[in-house]
Amino acid sequence: MEQCLFCRIIAGEIPAEIVYRDENAVVFKDINPQAPVHLLVIPVRHIARLTDPDAADGNMLSQIFTVIQRMATDQGLEAGFRVVTNCGENAGQTVNHLHFHILGRRCMSWPPG
Ligand code: AMP
Ligand code: ZN
Repeated sequence: MEQCLFCRIIAGEIPAEIVYRDENAVVFKDINPQAPVHLLVIPVRHIARLTDPDAADGNMLSQIFTVIQRMATDQGLEAGFRVVTNCGENAGQTVNHLHFHILGRRCMSWPPG
C-alpha cells in the first residue's frame, strides 16, 4: 500500500504527531483539527474502510476501541467526546485507510453536517 497516506505515516515516511502506537494501532494528531483534541486512531494493517474488516479482525477492532478508551482518559475527556468514522464517499471519507476520529474538549451539536 505504498500510495496510502496513512500507511506512509505508519512507516515514518510522512511526518505526523504520533501520540501512541502498539502492534495493532497508531494514534496521531489530525493535521486539520476540528476540535481542541482531534486524534486519528488507525489500524497498523491497511484496511480501507469500516465495511472491510472480517471476522478475523475482531480482536484488532476490539483492541482499537481499547486504545480509544485509553486516549480519552489520557486526554482528559471525562466531560465527553465524539468518535467518528466516515465510511465511503457519501460520508465524506477522504483517506482510504480506516480511521476513527476522536474529537473532544468542546461542546458539539447533533445532527452532524
Ligand atoms: P476523513 O475525511 O474522515 O477520511 O478524515 C481524514 C482526516 O485525515 C482529515 O480529518 C484530515 O485532516 C486528516 N489528514 C489528512 N492528511 C493528514 C496528515 N498528513 N496528517 C494528519 N492528518 C491528516
Ligand atoms: Zn493504508
